[in-house]
Amino acid sequence: EMKPEDFLVKLSQGSSVKKVIGVVSGKGGVGKSMVTSLLAAASMREGFKTAILDGDITGPSIPKAFGLSINLVGNADGLILPATTTCGIDIVSVNLMLANETDPVIWRGPVLGGVIKQFWGETLWHNVDYMFIDMPPGTGDVPLTIFQSVPLDGIVIVSSPQELVGMIVEKAVNMARMMNVPILGLVENMSYVECPDCGKQIKVFGESHIDEIAAEYAVPVLAKIPMDPTLAAACDAGKIEYVENNYMKDAIEVLKKL
Ligand code: ADP
Repeated sequence: EMKPEDFLVKLSQGSSVKKVIGVVSGKGGVGKSMVTSLLAAASMREGFKTAILDGDITGPSIPKAFGLSINLVGNADGLILPATTTCGIDIVSVNLMLANETDPVIWRGPVLGGVIKQFWGETLWHNVDYMFIDMPPGTGDVPLTIFQSVPLDGIVIVSSPQELVGMIVEKAVNMARMMNVPILGLVENMSYVECPDCGKQIKVFGESHIDEIAAEYAVPVLAKIPMDPTLAAACDAGKIEYVENNYMKDAIEVLKKL
């Protein structure tokens, strides 16, 4: 009988990755790539060698947020060399391999899963302390492939107040338990908008239920991130790693204990 560890893909020779964190969500558009970027930037600012494996290949959010548009190259051994941001975060993404960054990625599940395994096992990951994997949205085949092939140290679940968070958490909990991966906590994105004049928090999507859900599944809430025009503008300008913020303070403390 095959055990979960039998499916794990080995890192390439010369690579080292200490901790791997998957960032998951129930559907697209809730801010999973944003949270991945903020986590990576916060980890880098703490002095950790940080990497992002962009496994959400439905859109070029990660390269764009960090202002990367180069094509990835390989070394003499045929290993992929990650692109490095100006602050030193190593990134691989399918969107750094397309001839034209507006080309749609139309590969189907099995190919996607294969690409992600290749990004894990055939890239030269140099002394990485924390790697964040921007997972494909949902709990389908491709995220499952990642769960099976990459030794995840934990996952962070991102949701917005509009989502049926209970259901997403339940599915993620089931998948994570099946694979013996700890759930590090929940991040609620677009929780509120802060009035720039009086500081009042406006709950655009109504009251959040994230605290109840977190209590129900006994996982912590790591952050509640507002809709913040500074973040959106920084992503558009490719400068997300320069945004000064404290949103990931609690999440980083959890990561340090891994
Ligand atoms: P996902 O990865 O879940 O599909 P993204 O992270 O790409 O979602 O976010 C979708 C869009 O919303 C992007 O344009 C992003 O810049 C913007 N966005 C995400 N979170 C926030 C936020 N907290 N404040 C402002 N804009 C945000």
